[in-house]
Amino acid sequence: MSNLEQEPAEIDCCAGQSPSEIQILEPREVPLGGLRAMTVFRTLPQKQRSLIGAWCFLDHYGPDDVELTGGMNVARHPHTGLQTVSWLFSGNINHLDSAGFKATVRPGEVNLMTAGRGISHSEILTEGTSILHGAQLWTALPDSVRNMQPTFENYRPEPLRADGWSLAVFLGSHSVGTLSSTSPVKTHTELSGAELRLEPGVEIEITVPSHHEHGVLLDSGTVEVNGQPLKPRDLGFVRSGCTTLKIKAGNEPVLALIIGGEPLNEDILMWWNFVGRSHDEVMEFRAQWQAEIGAEPGDYSEERFGPFPPDTPAALPAPALPTVTLRPRVNPS
Ligand code: MN
Repeated sequence: MSNLEQEPAEIDCCAGQSPSEIQILEPREVPLGGLRAMTVFRTLPQKQRSLIGAWCFLDHYGPDDVELTGGMNVARHPHTGLQTVSWLFSGNINHLDSAGFKATVRPGEVNLMTAGRGISHSEILTEGTSILHGAQLWTALPDSVRNMQPTFENYRPEPLRADGWSLAVFLGSHSVGTLSSTSPVKTHTELSGAELRLEPGVEIEITVPSHHEHGVLLDSGTVEVNGQPLKPRDLGFVRSGCTTLKIKAGNEPVLALIIGGEPLNEDILMWWNFVGRSHDEVMEFRAQWQAEIGAEPGDYSEERFGPFPPDTPAALPAPALPTVTLRPRVNPS
């Protein structure tokens, strides 16, 4: 694993940190699927980095004119071993899952779905949505709880605000000077997530636990993170060992997401929508999903991904079996 140090030395990265100490993770464009496919910009996972804390997946999208792109119409599909975190800047998405939760995802509210041992859900934009803009992230559940029962939580944080900035902390805790905010949403490792807005020229200094890693995803504007510029859609990775994140806006207003957390220190295996620990386990998740939706034969005494209302559009079948043995993802040190 990348970092087995239990108590890394505290270093103020912001004082005299060389720019090379922040890793710029550039996005790749991925069509979301369907006839008129919306494009998402994926910065996690990628070759250079699999995880930031337990965050294992980051898709950023929009602002999309849904008349042109079709927006988001993701039919029922499965997940295991992870939490999905949805955060919107504009538009609304209807969420429906096999644990019985039905919710409308709205800007400024976090919707966190814990897949645990298995869940399936659909994500479809609402009829009134004209512009869709936001992010979907996943966190990997640690081994100790990854087979828990699925659940769902919604939370609307009251943003911290001061001169020229606002910070909406939707997961974990953040403090800026004497102001602080803590989300009540349950996580299973130490994690943080927040939306940051800065007016032009404003700088914010966020106090962070030194054992956490962080990522700053820039949506719009120009910004320097600990002195290094980011382009829109880039994810700037900040290693553990920092006690502050210094984020400074250029000449335009800034909208960004900040994610963080303690290193997971577990080797996880991600394939399609599943997080597991071994090739055989993930292929077993695939086989059960295919059996439950009637795409391939299989007989299971207990449903893992159901039930789902019968009148919903057809479920997404899993991709073909991989031709190679899947290996766990390990972060380069
Ligand atoms: Mn999903």
